[in-house]
Amino acid sequence: MAQVRPDEVSAILRKQLSGFDNEVDIYDVGTVLSVGDGIAQVYGLSQVMASELVEFPHEIVGMVLNLDEDSVGCVLFGDSSLIKEGDTVKRTKRVASIPVGEEFLGRVITPLGIPIDGKGPIQSKQFLPIERKALGVVARQPVTEPLQTGIAAIDAMIPIGRGQRELIIGDRQTGKTAVAIDTIINQKTTHTEEAKQSGVKPVYCVYVAIGQKASTVAQVVNKLEEHGAMEFTTVVSASSSDPAPLQYIAPYAGATLAEFFRDNGKHALTVYDDLSKQAVAYRELSLLLKRPPGREAYPGDIFYLHSRLLERASKLSDELGGGSLTSLPIIETQQGDVSAYIPTNVISITDGQIYLEPNLFNAGVRPAINVGISVSRVGGNAQIKAMKKVAGSLKLDLAQYRELEAFAKFGSDLDQATQRTLAKGERLVELLKQGQYEPLPVEKQVISIFAATNGFMESISVKDIKRFQSEMLEFIEVNNKNIFEEIRTKKQISDELNATIKKTITDFQSKFKKSE
Ligand code: ATP
Ligand code: MG
Repeated sequence: MAQVRPDEVSAILRKQLSGFDNEVDIYDVGTVLSVGDGIAQVYGLSQVMASELVEFPHEIVGMVLNLDEDSVGCVLFGDSSLIKEGDTVKRTKRVASIPVGEEFLGRVITPLGIPIDGKGPIQSKQFLPIERKALGVVARQPVTEPLQTGIAAIDAMIPIGRGQRELIIGDRQTGKTAVAIDTIINQKTTHTEEAKQSGVKPVYCVYVAIGQKASTVAQVVNKLEEHGAMEFTTVVSASSSDPAPLQYIAPYAGATLAEFFRDNGKHALTVYDDLSKQAVAYRELSLLLKRPPGREAYPGDIFYLHSRLLERASKLSDELGGGSLTSLPIIETQQGDVSAYIPTNVISITDGQIYLEPNLFNAGVRPAINVGISVSRVGGNAQIKAMKKVAGSLKLDLAQYRELEAFAKFGSDLDQATQRTLAKGERLVELLKQGQYEPLPVEKQVISIFAATNGFMESISVKDIKRFQSEMLEFIEVNNKNIFEEIRTKKQISDELNATIKKTITDFQSKFKKSE
């Protein structure tokens, strides 16, 4: 992926700014008092707004962050070594904004809307500020539609609804990005003709990469392209080599891009990968701007940094078109410490969290979700009836299993009931393992869990479970496709369908060849 040089950023920004009213009066011009580390203190701009863009010489653009009594502090998006004390600074009277629109689907851009994928300029007429006030209660309605992630463990036990904020949290290299990317890939199922017929509305996605290596982001883009998900996705990238101001504004820009869809009655999903790095970028800025440091040297408004971003996730009222914006923020923990400052902040802002654990990950349980402590406080209402019915006992079964797991090594010394619980749990854990880039449609998840909770897997050895699952789904696809179709369209399991499913699985079971 191409890197945009800072001077290019400024040039493009200036172009975006041209054509707007440039009448200048005395209050609109200031003088640079001091400059360094990408920050300029400016005297004179007495009417300037917070987050307004200002123009420096050499076509360098800055953004106002500090409004002090007799000067303002600006961050520079260009090469600050070109700016000298005494230089003139002009107001633009425009707060930092980003072009939006469907033209951005399939593209990779910087947080200021500049394409970096080498696919040419993006034509867009509409600009929206990157910081927008979140909607009030009256403009919203309860979350009622599912956002299917395609990951069985999540859709069955930690269901996410459209308009919800669900945190993905875990140490480094535990599969956080993988969960988010698989969720984006699974939205492909909402863009098909079939989805349209069964009343499922398409979900448009925005993946915001903050402070990651450019090569990692390029890999993500490749994977999205490979799986046909770029068509409905925009990637916003502020990599670790980009200036801190860009990393700081990246998630807001992503939210604005997604709000365009939400406000037009459509459905959008944003992934912020990750907010820990955004917080670090903001701390850097704040310290350079001489804002007083607080706990862990973060500035006092660090909570507001994330709350105002995540409050923008919403399900709009029908009067406003009924669109939605679902957010999946990601937080990286250090050694599983979820009680550190930033993790606790974001946990308290979101509607639930998905905990990923290194010991599960290393034991081969992937996705490494700790189901016991993961929750979703909203999405249960949005789950389809069929899933609710089959997954009802799943969480309990797994919890009982985990409680007894430590005794598993005593093997045959245990009483029968305990052995049964252990055997069931082992099979469920195995069933919920899922490879990367292999999202499972909800009807297939329902059938898989149905088979497990109705005892069809009791006689299957643990190592055969995944094969049993895939061959069973294949068998139904070939012999009784209607089962999938009925779950997909009617979203529930009637008594009749229940009997059909049982009969079909019994048929399959008799044909299944157990391995030695
Ligand atoms: P980082 O902290 O570096 O951002 P992360 O928590 O985002 O890491 P990922 O990059 O998503 O983790 O995943 C780490 C590794 O685990 C990757 O190599 C990925 O391919 C692999 N992985 C993730 N999920 C799965 C899965 N379900 N099955 C198999 N491999 C997986
Ligand atoms: Mg990651």
